[in-house]
Amino acid sequence: MLGGMQEFELRVPRALEHAEREHGDREVVSRWADGSESRTDWAGIARDARRLAQALERMGVHKGDRVATLAMNHHRHLISWYGAIGMGGLIHTINPRLFEDQLVYIGNHAEDKVLLYDKAFEPVVEKLKARWTTIEHYICYDPAPGQRGFEDILAQEDGDYAWVEGDERDPCMLCYTSGTTGNPKGVVYSHRSSMIHALAEIQPSVFDLSTRSVALPVVPMFHAVGWGLPFAAPMVGLKFVFSAVNDPAVLCELMNREKVTHSAGVPTVWFALFNHIDTTGEAPKFLEVVTIGGSAAPRSMIERIMKMGVRVNHAWGMTETSPIGTIGALPVKWDAMSFDEQVDYGTRQGSVPFGIEMRIVDDDGEILSRDGESSGRLQVRGPWVIQRYFKDESGDAVTKDGWFDTGDVSVIHPDGTMQITDRAKDVIKSGGEWISSVELENAAVGCPGVAEAAAIGVFHPKWDERPLLLVVRREGSDVSADAIRDYLTDHVAKWWLPDEILFVDELPHTATGKLLKTAIREQHKAYRFT
Ligand code: ADP
Repeated sequence: MLGGMQEFELRVPRALEHAEREHGDREVVSRWADGSESRTDWAGIARDARRLAQALERMGVHKGDRVATLAMNHHRHLISWYGAIGMGGLIHTINPRLFEDQLVYIGNHAEDKVLLYDKAFEPVVEKLKARWTTIEHYICYDPAPGQRGFEDILAQEDGDYAWVEGDERDPCMLCYTSGTTGNPKGVVYSHRSSMIHALAEIQPSVFDLSTRSVALPVVPMFHAVGWGLPFAAPMVGLKFVFSAVNDPAVLCELMNREKVTHSAGVPTVWFALFNHIDTTGEAPKFLEVVTIGGSAAPRSMIERIMKMGVRVNHAWGMTETSPIGTIGALPVKWDAMSFDEQVDYGTRQGSVPFGIEMRIVDDDGEILSRDGESSGRLQVRGPWVIQRYFKDESGDAVTKDGWFDTGDVSVIHPDGTMQITDRAKDVIKSGGEWISSVELENAAVGCPGVAEAAAIGVFHPKWDERPLLLVVRREGSDVSADAIRDYLTDHVAKWWLPDEILFVDELPHTATGKLLKTAIREQHKAYRFT
Protein backbone atom coordinates (compact mmCIF):
# COMPACT_ATOMS: atom_id res chain seq x y z
CA MET A 1 0.00 0.00 0.00
CA LEU A 2 1.17 3.55 -0.71
CA GLY A 3 0.48 6.61 1.38
CA GLY A 4 -2.76 8.38 0.60
CA MET A 5 -1.31 11.82 -0.06
CA GLN A 6 -0.99 13.85 -3.26
CA GLU A 7 1.81 13.41 -5.75
CA PHE A 8 3.15 16.95 -5.49
CA GLU A 9 6.51 17.06 -7.20
CA LEU A 10 9.07 19.18 -5.38
CA ARG A 11 10.05 21.32 -8.34
CA VAL A 12 11.93 24.61 -8.15
CA PRO A 13 9.38 26.81 -10.01
CA ARG A 14 6.88 26.05 -7.26
CA ALA A 15 9.00 28.08 -4.83
CA LEU A 16 8.94 31.04 -7.20
CA GLU A 17 5.19 30.68 -7.78
CA HIS A 18 4.70 30.70 -4.03
CA ALA A 19 6.68 33.95 -3.68
CA GLU A 20 4.74 35.49 -6.57
CA ARG A 21 1.37 34.51 -5.12
CA GLU A 22 1.96 35.08 -1.40
CA HIS A 23 4.70 37.72 -1.30
CA GLY A 24 4.47 39.27 -4.77
CA ASP A 25 5.23 42.83 -3.66
CA ARG A 26 8.23 41.96 -1.49
CA GLU A 27 11.18 43.78 -3.00
CA VAL A 28 14.28 42.57 -4.82
CA VAL A 29 16.93 45.30 -5.00
CA SER A 30 20.09 45.28 -7.13
CA ARG A 31 22.99 47.65 -6.81
CA TRP A 32 25.11 47.67 -9.97
CA ALA A 33 28.84 48.18 -10.28
CA ASP A 34 28.34 51.69 -11.76
CA GLY A 35 26.36 52.77 -8.69
CA SER A 36 22.92 52.59 -10.31
CA GLU A 37 20.11 50.55 -8.80
CA SER A 38 17.21 48.43 -9.99
CA ARG A 39 14.15 47.63 -7.90
CA THR A 40 11.68 44.88 -8.66
CA ASP A 41 9.70 42.37 -6.58
CA TRP A 42 8.91 38.66 -6.54
CA ALA A 43 6.01 39.16 -8.95
CA GLY A 44 8.42 40.92 -11.31
CA ILE A 45 11.03 38.18 -10.95
CA ALA A 46 8.41 35.52 -11.77
CA ARG A 47 7.07 37.46 -14.77
CA ASP A 48 10.55 38.01 -16.18
CA ALA A 49 11.59 34.40 -15.53
CA ARG A 50 8.62 33.28 -17.66
CA ARG A 51 9.66 35.69 -20.40
CA LEU A 52 13.20 34.38 -20.27
CA ALA A 53 11.92 30.81 -20.49
CA GLN A 54 10.00 31.77 -23.64
CA ALA A 55 13.09 33.47 -25.08
CA LEU A 56 15.30 30.47 -24.36
CA GLU A 57 12.84 28.15 -26.09
CA ARG A 58 12.81 30.49 -29.04
CA MET A 59 16.62 30.23 -29.18
CA GLY A 60 16.35 26.44 -29.42
CA VAL A 61 17.20 25.59 -25.82
CA HIS A 62 15.57 22.32 -24.83
CA LYS A 63 14.84 20.38 -21.68
CA GLY A 64 18.10 19.26 -20.11
CA ASP A 65 20.24 21.89 -21.88
CA ARG A 66 22.69 24.00 -19.90
CA VAL A 67 22.34 27.78 -19.63
CA ALA A 68 25.50 29.28 -18.21
CA THR A 69 26.09 32.51 -16.33
CA LEU A 70 29.28 34.48 -15.77
CA ALA A 71 27.96 37.08 -13.42
CA MET A 72 27.95 38.73 -10.03
CA ASN A 73 24.86 39.04 -7.85
CA HIS A 74 21.86 40.93 -9.24
CA HIS A 75 18.18 40.33 -9.98
CA ARG A 76 18.81 39.52 -13.67
CA HIS A 77 21.04 36.70 -12.53
CA LEU A 78 18.23 35.48 -10.25
CA ILE A 79 15.71 35.70 -13.11
CA SER A 80 18.07 33.57 -15.19
CA TRP A 81 18.13 30.80 -12.58
CA TYR A 82 14.34 30.56 -12.56
CA GLY A 83 13.90 31.11 -16.31
CA ALA A 84 16.39 28.40 -17.26
CA ILE A 85 15.15 25.94 -14.63
CA GLY A 86 11.50 26.75 -15.34
CA MET A 87 11.83 25.74 -18.99
CA GLY A 88 13.39 22.44 -18.01
CA GLY A 89 17.01 23.48 -18.46
CA LEU A 90 19.91 23.57 -16.03
CA ILE A 91 21.33 26.82 -14.77
CA HIS A 92 25.11 26.57 -14.75
CA THR A 93 26.82 29.24 -12.67
CA ILE A 94 30.45 29.70 -13.71
CA ASN A 95 32.92 31.32 -11.36
CA PRO A 96 34.40 34.25 -13.33
CA ARG A 97 37.48 34.32 -11.13
CA LEU A 98 38.74 30.99 -12.47
CA PHE A 99 41.75 30.80 -14.77
CA GLU A 100 41.00 31.04 -18.48
CA ASP A 101 41.86 27.40 -19.15
CA GLN A 102 39.45 26.33 -16.43
CA LEU A 103 36.70 28.57 -17.83
CA VAL A 104 37.17 26.95 -21.23
CA TYR A 105 37.26 23.46 -19.75
CA ILE A 106 34.09 24.01 -17.71
CA GLY A 107 32.08 25.57 -20.57
CA ASN A 108 32.97 22.75 -22.94
CA HIS A 109 32.59 19.98 -20.39
CA ALA A 110 29.14 21.30 -19.43
CA GLU A 111 28.25 21.72 -23.14
CA ASP A 112 26.67 25.06 -22.33
CA LYS A 113 24.33 26.33 -25.03
CA VAL A 114 23.81 29.91 -23.85
CA LEU A 115 26.05 32.22 -21.87
CA LEU A 116 24.60 35.15 -19.94
CA TYR A 117 27.29 37.52 -18.68
CA ASP A 118 28.05 40.85 -17.03
CA LYS A 119 29.66 43.55 -19.15
CA ALA A 120 32.54 43.52 -16.68
CA PHE A 121 33.46 40.05 -18.00
CA GLU A 122 33.15 40.99 -21.67
CA PRO A 123 36.93 40.99 -22.27
CA VAL A 124 37.25 37.40 -21.12
CA VAL A 125 34.09 36.35 -22.99
CA GLU A 126 35.42 37.88 -26.21
CA LYS A 127 38.76 36.19 -25.70
CA LEU A 128 37.35 32.73 -25.00
CA LYS A 129 34.50 32.69 -27.57
CA ALA A 130 36.71 30.93 -30.08
CA ARG A 131 37.58 28.20 -27.58
CA TRP A 132 34.06 27.50 -26.29
CA THR A 133 32.76 24.94 -28.73
CA THR A 134 29.08 24.56 -27.76
CA ILE A 135 27.85 28.04 -26.82
CA GLU A 136 25.46 29.35 -29.49
CA HIS A 137 24.11 32.49 -27.83
CA TYR A 138 25.91 35.18 -25.85
CA ILE A 139 23.71 37.61 -23.93
CA CYS A 140 24.99 40.55 -21.92
CA TYR A 141 23.11 41.56 -18.78
CA ASP A 142 24.12 45.22 -18.88
CA PRO A 143 25.25 46.03 -22.43
CA ALA A 144 26.73 49.33 -23.51
CA PRO A 145 24.08 51.85 -24.71
CA GLY A 146 22.76 50.91 -28.15
CA GLN A 147 23.77 47.24 -27.82
CA ARG A 148 21.20 44.46 -27.52
CA GLY A 149 21.08 42.72 -24.19
CA PHE A 150 19.10 40.77 -21.61
CA GLU A 151 16.24 43.28 -21.20
CA ASP A 152 15.75 43.54 -24.99
CA ILE A 153 15.38 39.79 -25.18
CA LEU A 154 12.79 39.79 -22.38
CA ALA A 155 10.92 42.69 -23.98
CA GLN A 156 10.07 40.51 -27.00
CA GLU A 157 8.11 38.03 -24.88
CA ASP A 158 4.67 38.29 -23.27
CA GLY A 159 5.30 36.05 -20.24
CA ASP A 160 2.32 33.83 -21.03
CA TYR A 161 4.11 30.63 -20.22
CA ALA A 162 3.55 27.49 -18.15
CA TRP A 163 6.56 25.98 -16.41
CA VAL A 164 7.74 22.67 -17.78
CA GLU A 165 6.50 19.83 -15.62
CA GLY A 166 8.44 16.69 -14.86
CA ASP A 167 9.95 14.45 -12.25
CA GLU A 168 11.29 16.05 -9.09
CA ARG A 169 14.49 14.06 -9.67
CA ASP A 170 15.15 15.93 -12.93
CA PRO A 171 18.34 18.01 -12.94
CA CYS A 172 17.98 21.76 -12.40
CA MET A 173 21.47 23.10 -11.81
CA LEU A 174 25.14 22.47 -12.44
CA CYS A 175 27.98 23.89 -10.41
CA TYR A 176 31.69 23.05 -10.59
CA THR A 177 34.03 22.85 -7.62
CA SER A 178 36.82 25.36 -7.99
CA GLY A 179 39.33 22.55 -8.47
CA THR A 180 42.23 23.37 -6.22
CA THR A 181 43.73 20.14 -7.61
CA GLY A 182 43.13 18.81 -11.12
CA ASN A 183 40.19 19.74 -13.31
CA PRO A 184 37.05 21.17 -11.71
CA LYS A 185 34.30 18.60 -11.13
CA GLY A 186 30.62 19.21 -11.88
CA VAL A 187 27.85 18.67 -9.35
CA VAL A 188 24.33 18.24 -10.75
CA TYR A 189 21.53 19.19 -8.36
CA SER A 190 17.97 17.96 -8.77
CA HIS A 191 14.74 19.89 -8.22
CA ARG A 192 14.08 17.65 -5.24
CA SER A 193 17.51 18.05 -3.65
CA SER A 194 17.39 21.83 -4.09
CA MET A 195 13.91 22.16 -2.60
CA ILE A 196 14.59 19.91 0.39
CA HIS A 197 17.83 21.79 1.01
CA ALA A 198 15.98 25.11 0.83
CA LEU A 199 13.28 23.89 3.22
CA ALA A 200 15.99 22.94 5.68
CA GLU A 201 17.80 26.22 5.17
CA ILE A 202 14.97 28.54 6.19
CA GLN A 203 14.64 26.96 9.65
CA PRO A 204 15.42 29.10 12.72
CA SER A 205 18.29 26.77 13.59
CA VAL A 206 19.80 27.06 10.11
CA PHE A 207 19.61 30.43 8.27
CA ASP A 208 16.65 31.68 10.32
CA LEU A 209 14.77 33.17 7.38
CA SER A 210 11.24 34.55 7.20
CA THR A 211 9.30 37.02 5.12
CA ARG A 212 10.46 39.73 7.55
CA SER A 213 14.11 39.01 6.71
CA VAL A 214 16.10 41.34 4.47
CA ALA A 215 18.96 39.27 3.06
CA LEU A 216 22.09 40.51 1.36
CA PRO A 217 24.15 37.52 0.22
CA VAL A 218 27.75 38.66 -0.12
CA VAL A 219 28.54 35.12 -1.21
CA PRO A 220 28.41 35.18 -5.01
CA MET A 221 25.64 33.20 -6.68
CA PHE A 222 28.35 31.22 -8.51
CA HIS A 223 29.89 29.97 -5.27
CA ALA A 224 28.30 26.67 -4.23
CA VAL A 225 24.70 27.50 -5.30
CA GLY A 226 25.02 30.93 -3.64
CA TRP A 227 24.80 28.84 -0.46
CA GLY A 228 21.24 27.89 -1.42
CA LEU A 229 19.82 31.37 -0.74
CA PRO A 230 18.35 31.94 -4.22
CA PHE A 231 16.18 28.83 -3.69
CA ALA A 232 15.35 29.45 -0.02
CA ALA A 233 14.43 33.14 -0.44
CA PRO A 234 11.18 32.67 -2.43
CA MET A 235 9.98 30.02 0.00
CA VAL A 236 9.59 32.73 2.64
CA GLY A 237 9.34 35.71 0.29
CA LEU A 238 12.10 37.64 2.01
CA LYS A 239 13.38 40.94 0.69
CA PHE A 240 16.50 40.31 -1.38
CA VAL A 241 19.29 42.87 -1.69
CA PHE A 242 22.06 42.21 -4.20
CA SER A 243 25.30 44.02 -4.79
CA ALA A 244 27.31 43.40 -7.94
CA VAL A 245 30.42 44.66 -6.12
CA ASN A 246 31.87 43.51 -2.82
CA ASP A 247 33.37 46.82 -1.75
CA PRO A 248 32.80 47.07 2.03
CA ALA A 249 31.78 50.75 1.79
CA VAL A 250 29.07 49.86 -0.73
CA LEU A 251 27.92 46.86 1.30
CA CYS A 252 27.74 48.86 4.50
CA GLU A 253 25.77 51.69 2.91
CA LEU A 254 23.37 49.21 1.31
CA MET A 255 22.96 47.25 4.54
CA ASN A 256 21.95 50.38 6.42
CA ARG A 257 19.75 51.93 3.76
CA GLU A 258 17.83 48.73 2.99
CA LYS A 259 17.85 47.60 6.65
CA VAL A 260 19.56 44.28 5.96
CA THR A 261 19.03 41.72 8.74
CA HIS A 262 20.75 38.66 7.25
CA SER A 263 24.01 38.34 5.40
CA ALA A 264 26.35 35.52 4.42
CA GLY A 265 29.92 35.32 3.15
CA VAL A 266 33.40 33.85 3.50
CA PRO A 267 35.72 35.13 6.27
CA THR A 268 37.67 37.50 3.95
CA VAL A 269 34.50 39.53 3.42
CA TRP A 270 34.15 40.25 7.13
CA PHE A 271 37.83 41.16 7.47
CA ALA A 272 37.29 43.77 4.78
CA LEU A 273 34.19 45.04 6.57
CA PHE A 274 36.08 45.37 9.89
CA ASN A 275 38.70 47.41 8.11
CA HIS A 276 35.98 49.70 6.80
CA ILE A 277 34.45 50.08 10.27
CA ASP A 278 37.86 50.86 11.78
CA THR A 279 38.72 53.50 9.23
CA THR A 280 35.33 55.22 8.81
CA GLY A 281 33.36 54.39 11.96
CA GLU A 282 30.42 53.33 9.77
CA ALA A 283 29.02 49.93 10.82
CA PRO A 284 25.96 47.90 9.78
CA LYS A 285 23.10 48.79 12.12
CA PHE A 286 20.34 46.29 11.44
CA LEU A 287 22.17 42.98 11.07
CA GLU A 288 20.76 40.13 13.15
CA VAL A 289 22.36 37.00 11.69
CA VAL A 290 25.62 36.61 9.80
CA THR A 291 26.47 33.26 8.26
CA ILE A 292 30.17 32.58 7.77
CA GLY A 293 31.49 29.57 5.91
CA GLY A 294 33.67 28.42 3.04
CA SER A 295 36.67 28.33 5.34
CA ALA A 296 37.03 28.37 9.09
CA ALA A 297 35.98 31.58 10.81
CA PRO A 298 38.72 32.68 13.22
CA ARG A 299 37.79 33.13 16.89
CA SER A 300 38.68 36.83 16.79
CA MET A 301 36.20 37.37 13.96
CA ILE A 302 33.38 35.57 15.75
CA GLU A 303 34.05 37.54 18.90
CA ARG A 304 34.01 40.86 17.08
CA ILE A 305 30.75 40.19 15.24
CA MET A 306 29.08 38.93 18.41
CA LYS A 307 30.16 42.10 20.21
CA MET A 308 28.24 44.01 17.53
CA GLY A 309 25.15 42.23 18.88
CA VAL A 310 24.88 39.98 15.81
CA ARG A 311 24.37 36.22 15.87
CA VAL A 312 27.23 34.44 14.12
CA ASN A 313 26.17 31.33 12.28
CA HIS A 314 29.32 29.36 11.47
CA ALA A 315 28.58 26.88 8.71
CA TRP A 316 30.49 24.14 7.00
CA GLY A 317 29.63 22.86 3.57
CA MET A 318 30.77 22.07 0.06
CA THR A 319 29.59 22.40 -3.51
CA GLU A 320 28.95 18.66 -3.19
CA THR A 321 26.55 19.22 -0.26
CA SER A 322 24.32 21.91 -1.86
CA PRO A 323 26.13 23.34 0.28
CA ILE A 324 24.87 23.16 3.90
CA GLY A 325 26.48 20.35 5.90
CA THR A 326 26.62 21.69 9.43
CA ILE A 327 25.63 25.01 10.92
CA GLY A 328 25.87 26.75 14.28
CA ALA A 329 22.43 26.21 15.77
CA LEU A 330 22.31 27.58 19.30
CA PRO A 331 22.45 24.85 21.97
CA VAL A 332 19.90 24.47 24.77
CA LYS A 333 22.38 25.76 27.33
CA TRP A 334 23.23 28.92 25.30
CA ASP A 335 21.83 31.46 27.79
CA ALA A 336 23.71 29.88 30.68
CA MET A 337 27.04 30.10 28.83
CA SER A 338 29.53 32.90 29.44
CA PHE A 339 30.39 35.19 26.52
CA ASP A 340 33.74 33.42 26.11
CA GLU A 341 32.06 30.03 26.06
CA GLN A 342 29.63 31.28 23.43
CA VAL A 343 32.51 32.52 21.27
CA ASP A 344 34.30 29.17 21.69
CA TYR A 345 31.12 27.41 20.65
CA GLY A 346 30.95 29.63 17.58
CA THR A 347 34.40 28.54 16.42
CA ARG A 348 33.03 25.04 15.85
CA GLN A 349 31.36 24.43 12.52
CA GLY A 350 28.02 23.62 14.14
CA SER A 351 25.78 20.58 14.01
CA VAL A 352 23.80 18.82 11.30
CA PRO A 353 20.25 19.87 10.45
CA PHE A 354 17.77 17.06 9.80
CA GLY A 355 18.65 15.64 6.39
CA ILE A 356 22.40 15.38 6.85
CA GLU A 357 24.03 12.47 8.64
CA MET A 358 27.72 12.64 9.46
CA ARG A 359 30.46 10.39 10.81
CA ILE A 360 34.22 10.40 11.10
CA VAL A 361 36.37 7.44 10.10
CA ASP A 362 40.05 6.53 10.36
CA ASP A 363 42.24 5.59 7.39
CA ASP A 364 40.89 2.01 7.50
CA GLY A 365 37.31 3.20 7.38
CA GLU A 366 36.64 2.37 11.04
CA ILE A 367 34.05 4.70 12.56
CA LEU A 368 35.52 6.88 15.31
CA SER A 369 33.72 7.98 18.42
CA ARG A 370 32.15 11.40 18.97
CA ASP A 371 34.43 12.21 21.89
CA GLY A 372 35.76 15.57 20.74
CA GLU A 373 39.27 14.08 20.64
CA SER A 374 39.35 11.46 17.89
CA SER A 375 39.99 13.13 14.61
CA GLY A 376 39.23 11.46 11.29
CA ARG A 377 37.91 11.87 7.77
CA LEU A 378 34.50 13.48 7.71
CA GLN A 379 31.86 11.61 5.73
CA VAL A 380 28.27 12.69 5.11
CA ARG A 381 25.11 11.44 3.44
CA GLY A 382 21.64 12.78 2.82
CA PRO A 383 19.12 13.88 0.18
CA TRP A 384 21.20 16.92 -0.85
CA VAL A 385 24.62 15.22 -0.88
CA ILE A 386 26.31 14.22 -4.15
CA GLN A 387 26.05 10.66 -5.46
CA ARG A 388 28.09 11.03 -8.66
CA TYR A 389 29.96 13.85 -10.42
CA PHE A 390 28.69 15.05 -13.79
CA LYS A 391 29.79 12.74 -16.63
CA ASP A 392 32.07 10.80 -14.30
CA GLU A 393 32.61 7.44 -15.96
CA SER A 394 34.56 6.09 -13.01
CA GLY A 395 31.36 5.64 -11.02
CA ASP A 396 29.83 6.94 -7.84
CA ALA A 397 31.52 9.45 -5.56
CA VAL A 398 30.47 7.59 -2.43
CA THR A 399 31.80 4.69 -0.35
CA LYS A 400 30.35 1.20 -0.76
CA ASP A 401 27.94 1.93 2.08
CA GLY A 402 26.79 5.19 0.53
CA TRP A 403 28.75 7.92 2.33
CA PHE A 404 30.50 10.84 0.63
CA ASP A 405 34.06 11.34 1.86
CA THR A 406 34.49 15.11 2.14
CA GLY A 407 38.29 15.22 2.18
CA ASP A 408 38.04 17.19 5.42
CA VAL A 409 39.43 16.05 8.74
CA SER A 410 37.36 16.78 11.83
CA VAL A 411 36.33 15.84 15.31
CA ILE A 412 32.75 15.46 16.50
CA HIS A 413 32.06 16.55 20.07
CA PRO A 414 29.77 14.60 22.39
CA ASP A 415 27.09 17.31 21.96
CA GLY A 416 27.02 16.65 18.19
CA THR A 417 28.95 19.74 17.12
CA MET A 418 31.56 19.21 14.44
CA GLN A 419 34.91 20.93 14.29
CA ILE A 420 37.03 20.91 11.16
CA THR A 421 40.67 20.37 11.95
CA ASP A 422 41.93 20.57 8.38
CA ARG A 423 41.63 19.46 4.83
CA ALA A 424 43.10 15.97 4.62
CA LYS A 425 45.80 17.19 2.26
CA ASP A 426 46.72 20.25 4.35
CA VAL A 427 47.35 18.72 7.78
CA ILE A 428 50.93 19.03 8.97
CA LYS A 429 52.27 15.63 9.98
CA SER A 430 54.83 16.12 12.72
CA GLY A 431 56.36 12.98 14.25
CA GLY A 432 53.27 10.90 13.50
CA GLU A 433 50.94 13.48 15.11
CA TRP A 434 48.76 15.91 13.23
CA ILE A 435 48.98 19.67 13.51
CA SER A 436 45.99 21.57 12.18
CA SER A 437 47.13 24.24 9.73
CA VAL A 438 43.72 25.90 10.03
CA GLU A 439 43.92 26.25 13.80
CA LEU A 440 47.43 27.62 13.59
CA GLU A 441 46.39 30.18 10.99
CA ASN A 442 43.33 31.25 12.90
CA ALA A 443 45.28 31.63 16.12
CA ALA A 444 47.87 33.74 14.28
CA VAL A 445 45.31 36.18 12.82
CA GLY A 446 44.17 36.88 16.39
CA CYS A 447 47.60 38.47 17.04
CA PRO A 448 47.48 42.27 16.70
CA GLY A 449 49.24 43.39 13.53
CA VAL A 450 48.61 40.17 11.61
CA ALA A 451 46.31 40.58 8.60
CA GLU A 452 46.48 37.05 7.22
CA ALA A 453 48.47 33.88 7.87
CA ALA A 454 49.06 30.54 6.17
CA ALA A 455 50.63 27.45 7.74
CA ILE A 456 52.18 24.69 5.65
CA GLY A 457 54.14 21.57 6.50
CA VAL A 458 57.80 21.70 5.49
CA PHE A 459 60.21 18.76 5.39
CA HIS A 460 62.07 18.12 8.64
CA PRO A 461 64.70 15.34 8.97
CA LYS A 462 63.56 14.30 12.43
CA TRP A 463 59.81 15.05 12.50
CA ASP A 464 58.94 14.48 8.80
CA GLU A 465 57.18 17.84 8.69
CA ARG A 466 57.17 20.95 10.82
CA PRO A 467 55.01 24.07 10.44
CA LEU A 468 56.19 27.10 8.51
CA LEU A 469 54.00 30.14 9.09
CA LEU A 470 53.69 32.80 6.41
CA VAL A 471 52.33 36.10 7.63
CA VAL A 472 50.97 39.18 5.88
CA ARG A 473 51.26 42.17 8.22
CA ARG A 474 48.40 44.59 8.69
CA GLU A 475 49.03 47.92 6.96
CA GLY A 476 51.34 50.07 9.06
CA SER A 477 52.22 47.25 11.47
CA ASP A 478 55.77 46.05 12.17
CA VAL A 479 54.78 43.10 14.34
CA SER A 480 57.79 40.81 14.79
CA ALA A 481 58.13 37.03 14.50
CA ASP A 482 58.92 36.88 18.22
CA ALA A 483 55.76 38.78 19.11
CA ILE A 484 53.69 36.38 17.01
CA ARG A 485 55.41 33.37 18.57
CA ASP A 486 54.76 34.76 22.06
CA TYR A 487 51.11 35.29 21.19
CA LEU A 488 50.78 31.77 19.78
CA THR A 489 52.29 30.25 22.92
CA ASP A 490 49.09 31.21 24.74
CA HIS A 491 46.82 29.87 22.02
CA VAL A 492 48.18 26.55 20.69
CA ALA A 493 50.06 23.53 22.06
CA LYS A 494 53.78 24.15 22.42
CA TRP A 495 54.75 21.50 19.87
CA TRP A 496 52.52 23.21 17.32
CA LEU A 497 54.56 26.44 17.39
CA PRO A 498 55.89 27.16 13.91
CA ASP A 499 59.62 26.47 13.47
CA GLU A 500 59.86 29.55 11.30
CA ILE A 501 57.72 32.62 10.67
CA LEU A 502 58.24 34.43 7.38
CA PHE A 503 56.68 37.72 6.33
CA VAL A 504 55.21 38.01 2.84
CA ASP A 505 53.43 40.83 1.00
CA GLU A 506 50.47 38.73 -0.02
CA LEU A 507 49.17 35.16 -0.14
CA PRO A 508 47.59 33.45 -3.14
CA HIS A 509 43.84 32.75 -2.99
CA THR A 510 41.46 30.47 -4.85
CA ALA A 511 38.69 31.88 -6.98
CA THR A 512 36.38 31.80 -3.96
CA GLY A 513 38.78 33.70 -1.72
CA LYS A 514 40.32 30.80 0.20
CA LEU A 515 44.03 30.36 0.78
CA LEU A 516 45.45 28.47 -2.19
CA LYS A 517 47.53 25.96 -0.28
CA THR A 518 48.80 24.14 -3.37
CA ALA A 519 50.35 27.37 -4.69
CA ILE A 520 51.74 28.30 -1.27
CA ARG A 521 53.39 24.87 -0.94
CA GLU A 522 54.74 25.19 -4.47
CA GLN A 523 56.23 28.64 -3.71
CA HIS A 524 58.05 27.24 -0.68
CA LYS A 525 58.87 23.76 -1.90
CA ALA A 526 62.62 24.38 -1.75
CA TYR A 527 62.35 25.28 1.93
CA ARG A 528 63.85 22.72 4.37
CA PHE A 529 64.24 22.62 8.13
CA THR A 530 67.51 21.13 9.32
P1 ADP B 1 36.25 24.46 -3.32
O1 ADP B 1 36.57 23.06 -2.90
O2 ADP B 1 36.16 24.63 -4.74
O3 ADP B 1 36.96 25.52 -2.55
P2 ADP B 1 33.83 24.50 -1.83
O4 ADP B 1 33.28 25.81 -1.48
O5 ADP B 1 32.92 23.42 -2.20
O6 ADP B 1 34.75 24.75 -3.01
O7 ADP B 1 34.79 24.07 -0.66
C1 ADP B 1 34.39 23.18 0.33
C2 ADP B 1 35.47 23.07 1.35
O8 ADP B 1 35.65 24.32 2.03
C3 ADP B 1 35.20 22.09 2.45
O9 ADP B 1 35.50 20.78 2.05
C4 ADP B 1 36.11 22.59 3.55
O10 ADP B 1 37.44 22.14 3.38
C5 ADP B 1 36.09 24.07 3.36
N1 ADP B 1 35.14 24.70 4.29
C6 ADP B 1 33.89 25.12 4.03
N2 ADP B 1 33.35 25.67 5.13
C7 ADP B 1 34.26 25.60 6.11
C8 ADP B 1 34.30 26.00 7.49
N3 ADP B 1 33.29 26.63 8.07
N4 ADP B 1 35.42 25.73 8.18
C9 ADP B 1 36.47 25.11 7.61
N5 ADP B 1 36.50 24.73 6.32
C10 ADP B 1 35.42 24.97 5.58
